[in-house]
Amino acid sequence: MNNHVTVLEIDGKALEHNLNYFKKKLHPNTKTLAVVKAFGYGSDGVQVASFLQDKVDYFAVAYTHEGVALREAGIETPILVLHPQVQNFDQLVANRLEPSIYSFKTLTAFLAYADEALLMNYPVHLKFNTGLNRLGLWHNDIPLILSKLQESKHVKVESIFSHLAASEDHDEKEFTINQINNFAYIVKKIYEHLGYEPMIHILNTSGIVNYPQAQFDMVRLGIGLYGFGNDEKETSQLKNTHVLKSVISQIHMIEPGETVGYNRAFVSKGFSKTATIPIGHADGISRRLGNEKGYVTLHGQKAPIIGNVCMDMIMIDITKIDCKEGDEVYIFKNQQDILHMAEEAETISYEILTAISQRVKRILT
Ligand code: PLP
Repeated sequence: MNNHVTVLEIDGKALEHNLNYFKKKLHPNTKTLAVVKAFGYGSDGVQVASFLQDKVDYFAVAYTHEGVALREAGIETPILVLHPQVQNFDQLVANRLEPSIYSFKTLTAFLAYADEALLMNYPVHLKFNTGLNRLGLWHNDIPLILSKLQESKHVKVESIFSHLAASEDHDEKEFTINQINNFAYIVKKIYEHLGYEPMIHILNTSGIVNYPQAQFDMVRLGIGLYGFGNDEKETSQLKNTHVLKSVISQIHMIEPGETVGYNRAFVSKGFSKTATIPIGHADGISRRLGNEKGYVTLHGQKAPIIGNVCMDMIMIDITKIDCKEGDEVYIFKNQQDILHMAEEAETISYEILTAISQRVKRILT
């Protein structure tokens, strides 16, 4: 039984629409990897991956335990683990998860593990740093990497990849092209000596839009799948996948001069009507959205969040809205709502989505 009143609805049809929107931009043979880390960008990685498993070629998660959750849900699609930890190699291999080899240390550790576990041709993905300076092998180490790989029958390089630092920034075009060129050079060096040609991939969502010439064998689609494109025009062609809704718990009639919430931050100028909604900062609603920075929508009208955001509740001004206790309230319903929240909270859509805490029930519709 669903007794949750605050729920995050994930729209399967919207996910599919967005996936197809990006697929249409690609060559028919280009593979698609869906990024479902961080609980599928806050949605529900398991539900999203179950829904998408016949529609994509690969999934990516950040950590091993995220991949294990997908396997436990019966997902058979190959899964790339972007940030595996040495202490989880057992779990990774037991669940047929494919590690990103992002440092020389990870390479030697995984080769040693694979040797001891007598693995044969276990798929691994070599990640090179081409300018993001976050995770990645160094191109200077290519000869060493190759000699390590050539000594081992235990692993097979399934792909070589890198990640763009600023694919959405038009003023960083030169930098991005340089990253792509450096990546192509690295791939060439490896192809020359490895004896076989693994898949290659570098593009994320904005990369697909801005640098389609670098789609190579596969692209890694994240935020685009969840409804956000490179700019407003593109976002308007995508469908919103996340709808966060709740209900009115209680309505208060407030006299002039009365205050609402902690620290008495809202002071009523006149007679007003307020509603309390069961969602707060513990559910992922930033405190920055209090004091009329954020709004919710009910009966098609916007109601500002008044006073400070509490841990489990927000209060809204409904003076001009005809409504009653139990009525449905949308915390966000479309991309504009999410982008507005992001702007007011001084962040990006990614963080608004991934911040929705696990206390909120997810429902795939
Ligand atoms: N590839 C890697 C390595 C990532 O870390 C991410 C997301 O952070 C993505 C792809 C997907 O990026 P986007 O959500 O911008 O499509």
